[in-house]
Amino acid sequence: MSERPSGERRPDSLAEALAGMPTQAQHPIPVDEACAMIARLADVVRETEEVALPAARARVLAHDLASPIDVPAHDNAAMDGYACAAASLSAAAPSRLRVVGAAWAGRPWSGRLGAGEALRIMTGAVMPEGADTVVPQEDATREDDHVIVARPLPAGTHRRHRGEDLARGKPMLSAGQRLGAAELGLLASVGLARVGVRRRLRVACLSTGSEVRAPGQPLSEGEIYDSNRYTLAGMLAPLGVEVLDCGVVPDEPAALESALREAAAAADAVISSGGVSVGEADFTRELMSRLGEVVFWTVAMRPGRPLAFGRLGRACYFGLPGNPVAVMITFLFLVRPALLRMMGTTETGPLPVLARALEPMRKKPGRTEYQRAIVAPGPDGALEVRSTGGQGSGILSSMSRANAIVRLAHDQGPVAPGDLVECLLFEGLL
Ligand code: AMP
Ligand code: MG
Repeated sequence: MSERPSGERRPDSLAEALAGMPTQAQHPIPVDEACAMIARLADVVRETEEVALPAARARVLAHDLASPIDVPAHDNAAMDGYACAAASLSAAAPSRLRVVGAAWAGRPWSGRLGAGEALRIMTGAVMPEGADTVVPQEDATREDDHVIVARPLPAGTHRRHRGEDLARGKPMLSAGQRLGAAELGLLASVGLARVGVRRRLRVACLSTGSEVRAPGQPLSEGEIYDSNRYTLAGMLAPLGVEVLDCGVVPDEPAALESALREAAAAADAVISSGGVSVGEADFTRELMSRLGEVVFWTVAMRPGRPLAFGRLGRACYFGLPGNPVAVMITFLFLVRPALLRMMGTTETGPLPVLARALEPMRKKPGRTEYQRAIVAPGPDGALEVRSTGGQGSGILSSMSRANAIVRLAHDQGPVAPGDLVECLLFEGLL
């Protein structure tokens, strides 16, 4: 079961879902339009579940959360030293305060400090009544049961306030946030051992091609090893989805039909690679029009031009090209945003950064181009980018050499050295 992100009724047909959108095109549609169509059909999973914190990483928070407690729960010391009232410290001469006790984190001192008194205090210990300031031990000299403080401090120095991190009853995290290290720590800091998240998205992956063999098998003449299911699994892993591995399917209508039916019945999204280029499209097209509905077949992008998107039963279907680099690019820039949306996150794509091109880059207006590239700081500290060289869509090793993709916009022409270009860093994506 799933829901429209805004809570609208789910459209009954593809035509209704896409009403008002540019009509389905036989010729390539711009990437932005393709993404908008995909977003219209990508329904958010509705079911939620409670999971223990250690299992919650990368999951999507189901509900807004307010903090059940103040963090920290008490005013406390930010340094090891001596707690006192700032008013006890004189500017004219060193102050000599009487040390009346000690407090450690978890072992408070229950008394009230008077004027001219100090409490030995450790970081994290509850501030005693009558104290507003902590004199760091480096700035204090101990003399038996007294401490000498050379200079006064402003009131409140080195004192942490109750609720300064999280205040009881105030918003802490929002529905749709993906839980990373900081969020897990925040949840733990308010004492929550379990958290409500959306159920994991189920994504089925299959490779097509009679020439494609699984690694570990012997290769005959003309056969190749399947890399696409492995790059896909590697890019799906950080999303925290459940991956259903549907293996390699030969180019036979019956085999492909049963594989797609099975995948669509079990998953929220089905991703296949291969078999959507011109040579094979007619066969896939006929199959898809029987099994589901296809919204578009080609996108104005490079690499990745042949790319089918539609619905197979209730599942979203992504028919990616066969070439390994095209699989990675179409996944990152068309499929990944759709999956994030289906997962119910508010998260968007990688943050683009601008870098100065070190070399010219060829680019034809009329399609979005994605170039494998290496981004690094230049001599002045500003980012520079150079291409990994040959951009053939079968050259997977260049994806491994690259640390970013340069995205050249649909209408843009060639890039000259020194031009600023938009780069999307791989960090966290692959
Ligand atoms: P296709 O779109 O099926 O014609 O595939 C385009 C190219 O990608 C062909 O050279 C295929 O051999 C290659 N290819 C298809 N599937 C895979 C795969 N799973 N792993 C590696 N290469 C593939
Ligand atoms: Mg093929």
